[in-house]
Amino acid sequence: MENMIPLWLKQRAFLTPNRLAIETESRALTFQELDESARALALTLATYGITSDMKVALLQDNTVEMITSYHAISYLGAIAVPLNTRLSARELAWQVSDCEAALLLYDNAHQEKVNSIVLERSSFQVCNINTLDQLVVGEEHHYLKAEMRSDAPHTIIYTSGTTGHPKGVLLTYANHWGSAIGSVLNLGCTLEDKWLAVVPLFHVSGLSIIMRSVIYGMPLRLHRHFDAKAVNEAIIHHKVTMVSVVTAMLTKMVEELGDQRYPETFRCMLLGGGPVPEPLLKVCLDKNIPVYQTYGLSETASQIVTLSPEHMITKTGSAGKPLFSAQVKIVDEHGDRVAANQAGEIVVKGPNVTSGYYKREEATQQAIKNQWLHTGDMGYLDEEGFLFVLDRRKDLIVSGGENIYPAEIESVLLSHPEVEEAGVVGMKDEKWGRVPVAFVKLKNKAKITETDLQMFCRDALAKYKVPTRFYFMDSLPRNASGKLLRRELVKRLPSDFQ
Ligand code: ATP
Repeated sequence: MENMIPLWLKQRAFLTPNRLAIETESRALTFQELDESARALALTLATYGITSDMKVALLQDNTVEMITSYHAISYLGAIAVPLNTRLSARELAWQVSDCEAALLLYDNAHQEKVNSIVLERSSFQVCNINTLDQLVVGEEHHYLKAEMRSDAPHTIIYTSGTTGHPKGVLLTYANHWGSAIGSVLNLGCTLEDKWLAVVPLFHVSGLSIIMRSVIYGMPLRLHRHFDAKAVNEAIIHHKVTMVSVVTAMLTKMVEELGDQRYPETFRCMLLGGGPVPEPLLKVCLDKNIPVYQTYGLSETASQIVTLSPEHMITKTGSAGKPLFSAQVKIVDEHGDRVAANQAGEIVVKGPNVTSGYYKREEATQQAIKNQWLHTGDMGYLDEEGFLFVLDRRKDLIVSGGENIYPAEIESVLLSHPEVEEAGVVGMKDEKWGRVPVAFVKLKNKAKITETDLQMFCRDALAKYKVPTRFYFMDSLPRNASGKLLRRELVKRLPSDFQ
């Protein structure tokens, strides 16, 4: 028998209509108000012919309308395909047509890009959410769903696609539910909680906050763009208790915070999305910032491994243990489990793990074997089962037969008082195969030479891990979530050495 669940926003608006759902600098909406907007938008989308299982691509900033769009699409039983606003028109056109979207729902900020997308491909309708007439919602309408199959697809999220074209990760209602429940069983939730969404809503980390908000009945505070001062103010003055961040964001927040402290009511800085340098964790410990490292992917609907409150200090540096209904193991190149403290590929399983990539049978079979997802990340489990993430397998530098994890070298460089950002990649080398080279952004006008940094690394690292070259840059390439793009760094090496 099919497992039917009530439509989440409808149920939430019925259970706790007057609770705050979304708060921005200038607006506040209850769940009932959000529900009314979502139903009104759903009825409008129905006039574009959108019905069950159709795809609606979203090209929008972090706005109330973007959240409303996700819920409106659910009301029609359609599938949301959030697009990365930073991509070029050509890349976006490819994704819109790969997922066979019937409609591209965008906002004013992206009008120009949409014009170019339409020039590239035009097999879909477009609709500017900011120019829609205000619709009045009447009684329950037969177009709108009241319940949903739990295994129905909710979203398709495109991965960055480091090799070839990106792949669309299919996430069902059950995947998002598994993620939200796994998270709350670890981090808990109180009536005082308010989660700040400053990571992009088109990314799984932002989307998962929307899901938690509606499932837990918890307010979400929304920031359109990342601004360290505004985030700190939201924590200090606007009763935000939880925030999801990546390393680059937290680094700026800590710097901006200076001597100030976060209030005791602030209880979780959820830090994930990429390697976490040790110096940053140390500063956070000194400032009593409750950092919880977490590990997750689009394929796991966000977190799958997160450090629990009682291990925050004793297991600093670890991403934690799997969420309650998830499992993690480390395997070698043959897929066999390796011993504790031995590095291998991180493989995960759980209700939040995708069943596959949209229209990519082969890629799905390669990644998912017996329900275990092969993440392409390297890590190890200590004897107590805590996960330590080393790096992406494809970023691993094999030098003279030795494995070098760029994140380890970056962490050392970032502990230098004059270094603001660091990225390490492998450069082709006749003798060693590959050798590590570093890209560094120095703090304001710091007078540091390549030799200084080399000496510094020599004190902390084995000789073969010391970067052979240092390139000084004004800024390092990052994606929309602030994650370092090492593949862009590789492109800056002379072509013979890439
Ligand atoms: P791609 O499509 O190339 O995988 P992406 O970064 O956009 O790129 P996401 O699903 O957003 O893909 O991010 C997941 C990746 O982020 C993981 O596979 C891992 O490499 C990295 N990551 C997440 N959490 C951590 C962590 N705690 N430590 C180290 N790396 C992490």
